[in-house]
Amino acid sequence: MEERILRRAQKDRAEGSSADEPRYPLLGLSRHRMELDGEGVTTLVAGAGCPLSCAYCINKSLLRQAPSFVTAAELYEKLRIDDLYFRATGGGPCFGGGESLLHAEFYERLRPLCPDWRFTAETSLNVSRETFIRCVPLFDAFIVDIKTLDPRIYERYTEKPLGPALENLAWLASHVAPEHLHLRVPLIPGYNDEADRDRTERSLREMGLIRIERFPYVIRPS
Ligand code: SF4
Repeated sequence: MEERILRRAQKDRAEGSSADEPRYPLLGLSRHRMELDGEGVTTLVAGAGCPLSCAYCINKSLLRQAPSFVTAAELYEKLRIDDLYFRATGGGPCFGGGESLLHAEFYERLRPLCPDWRFTAETSLNVSRETFIRCVPLFDAFIVDIKTLDPRIYERYTEKPLGPALENLAWLASHVAPEHLHLRVPLIPGYNDEADRDRTERSLREMGLIRIERFPYVIRPS
């Protein structure tokens, strides 16, 4: 293990990056996406790590893979191949996979390298207030997988309390224009129903949110 760390430090020095530089746990990139992860042409940047344990998580096998840890400069090099597409269509990277808003320090390094791209975060918002507040100004749009606003259903499905996500959502709704917030409200078999989705949608609209997508989860055997 020590030898591996030493080799990594030597590689970092050779590449001009330091061992304590923030790194993104990259699982993979999916390029040239349209209408899936926000406006324009997007590249989905899949990252490891999620605080939730959703019963029907479709990313479970992906999240079990070992990520490669890349610096901001390294990820920028991988993304800039699509610079022209991003600029021409108003697109850019969409960070998702697991939970995107866990990497504030990393985005603070990456964002100045590509200020003209549109940054989108796919998030459950179930992150600490500190990292959330640091991340928000670095993104242009948010795709929020809020699931449900019923605390009991939420906790049974995700194994985490709704509170932090709800508090962050309220903050987002009062600080970011509603057209930049896309809320996802799934029908989750065995967990919620149409009446719950109606209540959730009503509460979201009362918060001033307008882009609300209702869709059914398709359960695949894992
Ligand atoms: S929030 Fe998304 S990535 Fe995280 S456990 Fe739930 S479905 Fe999986």
